[in-house]
Amino acid sequence: MNGQNKERTNAHKQILLSSLDLTVGETSYKEECPQCREKGSFSVTKTEEGLLYNCFRAKCGIKGFIPTNNLYTIRKKEENNKHNIVLSKLNLCTVPTKVKYFLYKKFNITNKHIIDNRIKWCTNSNRIMTPLYSIDKEYFGFQLRNYNKHTKVKSVVYTTNKKELYCPINIIIKETPIVIVEDTWSAIRMSDFCCSVALLGTYLTKENSKYLLGKDIYIALDNDATYKSLKILQSFGGIFKSYNVIRLSKDIKNMPDKQIIREVLPQIYGKEITSFLSAK
Ligand SMILES: [Zn+2]
Repeated sequence: MNGQNKERTNAHKQILLSSLDLTVGETSYKEECPQCREKGSFSVTKTEEGLLYNCFRAKCGIKGFIPTNNLYTIRKKEENNKHNIVLSKLNLCTVPTKVKYFLYKKFNITNKHIIDNRIKWCTNSNRIMTPLYSIDKEYFGFQLRNYNKHTKVKSVVYTTNKKELYCPINIIIKETPIVIVEDTWSAIRMSDFCCSVALLGTYLTKENSKYLLGKDIYIALDNDATYKSLKILQSFGGIFKSYNVIRLSKDIKNMPDKQIIREVLPQIYGKEITSFLSAK
């Protein structure tokens, strides 16, 4: 295979892999065609068995079908490799005081949160390392977050071959309401008040939604994720016992406890909770 072909094949593979997160029947936005490079001419539709793809440009006309199972196997392999390579480069120690102070100032993350959730500091990369545990307490990867606020990418998630929802380690999912948030910090903060899990930048999928079946679900995503909330309700609303979208004036991780009590909890437990907690 020559260099150009290899590049095309790889681009094609990456588009298909990212299309795995579509729901059945859904078609992706039109993207650049990996074959002819025409912008906005390539689209992918997910069916029960696999992905149908085609380029609308008559001159190119690339089209085909690939079973989803094959793609899941490829994705698992790729993610595992990436995870293992990065994991081998981490050099972990306890979180330094200045970083603790940063986490407290920025997200109200306390020393107890850090210890409970086994958060460490990586001296090689100068990043905060949060191990990721699923609802059933299985390790499935880690997140590295920049401490230096001037860098562009804030945090990167590395997962093993499992795609799960992040669940703070001290939380046991019972019959209580479950609040779905966007990121680890919000989940950790919210877990002081009720069960909370984080999407970690992905969508809710058939695989990771199994624990939410028949539960009362509250969706508390960042303000710019309204589309995502609607999409979750559209695809999964039917499997929840009940579901509500929580209105937020800012991200949960950026709210002081008082504001969570005043603004978020009443939308879950009713207004009485605020006066009860404020009196404590
Ligand atoms: Zn094309």
